[in-house]
Amino acid sequence: MAKNKKTETPTGPVERSGLFEYAPAPESPAAAGEIATGYGHFIGGEFVDSSGSEALKTVNPATEQVLAEFAQGTEEDVDRAVGAARKAFADWSALPGSERAKYLFRIARIIQERSRELAVLESIDNGKPIRETRDVDLPLVAAHFFYYAGWADKLDYAGFGPNPRPLGVAAQVIPWNFPLLMLAWKIAPALATGNTVVLKPAETTPLTALRFAEICRQAGLPKGVVNIVTGDGRTGAALTSHPDVNKVAFTGSTPVGRAIAKQLAGTRKKLSLELGGKAANIVFDDAPLDQAVEGIVDGIFFNQGHVCCAGSRLLVQESVQDELLDALKRRMGTLRVGDPLDKNTDIGAINSAEQLARITELAAAGEREGAERWAPECELPGAGYWFRPTLFTGVSQAHRIAREEVFGPVLSVLTFRTPAEAVEKANNTPYGLSAGIWTEKGSRILWMASRLRAGVVWANTFNKFDPTSPFGGYKESGYGREGGRHGLEPYLNVEALDV
Ligand code: NAD
Repeated sequence: MAKNKKTETPTGPVERSGLFEYAPAPESPAAAGEIATGYGHFIGGEFVDSSGSEALKTVNPATEQVLAEFAQGTEEDVDRAVGAARKAFADWSALPGSERAKYLFRIARIIQERSRELAVLESIDNGKPIRETRDVDLPLVAAHFFYYAGWADKLDYAGFGPNPRPLGVAAQVIPWNFPLLMLAWKIAPALATGNTVVLKPAETTPLTALRFAEICRQAGLPKGVVNIVTGDGRTGAALTSHPDVNKVAFTGSTPVGRAIAKQLAGTRKKLSLELGGKAANIVFDDAPLDQAVEGIVDGIFFNQGHVCCAGSRLLVQESVQDELLDALKRRMGTLRVGDPLDKNTDIGAINSAEQLARITELAAAGEREGAERWAPECELPGAGYWFRPTLFTGVSQAHRIAREEVFGPVLSVLTFRTPAEAVEKANNTPYGLSAGIWTEKGSRILWMASRLRAGVVWANTFNKFDPTSPFGGYKESGYGREGGRHGLEPYLNVEALDV
């Protein structure tokens, strides 16, 4: 049993009773299976060496130990992968949808069978807690493949006209915060609609994408239908600008999304962008406050706050501010920060030293600009990248922590008096990805939801994802939808056939 710890709460330090401490419950890193010392790309159904000699390293952010080296994809590598995808396109797109569905169902089932291995590998490479990879990421990854497998033979009835057709080769670039889930969001609809794919995972989290390549082989997926090329932004730029891709799907930061949009302007490539966010989580005075506290915690501390739709701005009605913040601080004092492979961990490691530096810098700016910083006492491990769950009160709309995406476990608290003021403050951001409303009144939920300029609005809950539900933003959060029937459209040519 762990020794007693002191925790700062709003009412002063309290002794955490040993009775309420959890013994360590570590998942075995060996469950991740063998991690090779070096990886090449997956092109045309084979693992191949890069044409270049540059290698990158991926580290375990909880220990800073190097896990593996992987190739920095060159323009030649990208060209080879696009060529393999183009070659595979004719046969893959000609398959009846019911046949393509069989492959997707097979992939989904293998993901379920290998989910423990994939969850542990994801936690090791990304730093996120095993509780989340096991109970959120992996079930959603499998669900995405199951869901789009179901659409593959029903495209004529999906509401996009009589004869929707695949676009061709899809270039897909994803970020590091949900590596395998973002891969599923990209690959499942692309394959269901008859496209072939070249995907580039993020440079800090390539391992589960490379393991997914093995799963494609295990499922007997025809060669070249899925290709994985690793590397950093240079590889990404080579892929999105390749002249022979028909579709670009990008998830990542707004500045890179903007650069890709410029690059593609004037070409016939179809583009979807899933970018950043600065969501408002709005709590009214009639909300069930204990429930709201859970939603606020889930909204900002899930996945270390590395969530594009994180509820990073708490808007609380002034009359319940003190009560809510007391309860929130008490709850934050119970969050466990540490080993991602411990099944009791709530907040794992920050994904990289660069991201930790960015979070640290923005939090320091919050203090400099006059907001009041609070974080519970908690022991942080020695090695690795860590950041305490942090709360800022007295935040004004002009503060950087209220305007910029921190992409870390940092919550900015603002207040409002009337629903109209809440709407105005919530919408006072260049982003428009998500929002949350906490109130007992159904009519107020509808009133608010129709005025909030966000792609997803959650009511009395937060961060709920489902493959049947479209997700996406507007304004600087991007365009195009992933998930649901809407998620098929970015991969289809729905123009009438020339006659
Ligand atoms: P990033 O834009 O730096 O990188 C994302 C990916 O793009 C990486 O694979 C990277 O190698 C690649 N890349 C970098 N420069 C490129 C270029 N010039 N051309 C093509 N590809 C390039 O973002 P990040 O820091 O890895 O991810 C965090 C960002 O992603 C946050 O802003 C977050 O909000 C956003 N995000 C959005 C969603 C969503 O669905 N809207 C989901 C997850 C993450």
